[in-house]
Amino acid sequence: MTAPLRLGISRCLLGEEVRFDGGHKRDNFLTDVLGRYVEWVSVCPEVEAGLGTPREAMRLVGDSHHPRLVTIKSGTDHTRAVERIIANRIREFEELDLSGYILKKGSPSCGMERVRIYNKHGMPSRNGVGLFARAFIEQFPLLPVEEEGRLCDPTLRENFIERVFCYRRWQDLVQSGVTRQALVQFHTIHKYVLLAHSPQQCEVLGRLIGQAHQHRPKELAHRYGELFMKALAVKATVRKHVNVLQHILGYFKERLGAREKAELLGVIGDYHQGLTPLIVPLTLIKHYVQTFEVGYIRDQIYLHPHPKELMLRNHV
Ligand code: SF4
Repeated sequence: MTAPLRLGISRCLLGEEVRFDGGHKRDNFLTDVLGRYVEWVSVCPEVEAGLGTPREAMRLVGDSHHPRLVTIKSGTDHTRAVERIIANRIREFEELDLSGYILKKGSPSCGMERVRIYNKHGMPSRNGVGLFARAFIEQFPLLPVEEEGRLCDPTLRENFIERVFCYRRWQDLVQSGVTRQALVQFHTIHKYVLLAHSPQQCEVLGRLIGQAHQHRPKELAHRYGELFMKALAVKATVRKHVNVLQHILGYFKERLGAREKAELLGVIGDYHQGLTPLIVPLTLIKHYVQTFEVGYIRDQIYLHPHPKELMLRNHV
């Protein structure tokens, strides 16, 4: 990667005391583990709108498409002040080359989904989106975005971080200028990552690459980038990983002895049944890929999608 991995984040998740009650929601995985690989761009829309800390608690009220941000006790409407700061921040983000965003769940400003929104009778429903989160997602629809609560799920965490690194590589390619040849190479090394998320979209992307000469490079890059990120947004599953592992095995199984082949199939079977994490069959496969010097597989991002120190595949 040629540029730092820059992620946006709700400021309270970094441990800054910006919450309405004067507290924070520090997330140790984000600050101490992922933070070693990331340059954070932190935002607290409410504090930046001048609402101070501590401040009166707020909630979303009204229509779920155009909710108002209103304090609970005094009924003060802060929608305009917060929307103004959101518009400024989003303009700045255009220049910052973010590769993803992590939001605080449940917040009327930052929550990505299922935020409580109250009707005129004071009854809540959980179909709101925080003001900042909505504006951000509308402006950057392809950027990986997650809530810190969902990142406690190992599968969602691995999916999100993999997407962030993929997006960073895509940004690097775009910045260096997308040629048809560079795009073919990019697609080739991401083939198994795509297959683990969406075999259907992988096929669509493959067809697009096959017809690359029919498109102008700029249009091709735009179309590819959109489909690429949409494909990665589909969740990778155990079944799809097993499919990928079997595909990879096809590249060198003839070179394995009967005992080694049975051992590797057994390890893949154990992973399929939930007896071992993904890292176990992958480690054995990497060993054979090195031993037999299978260049095409060795270069696959699937084998090293993010720093191994994050140990994300030890838990999925
Ligand atoms: S959730 Fe968002 S608005 Fe609320 S304290 Fe955290 S950063 Fe600020």
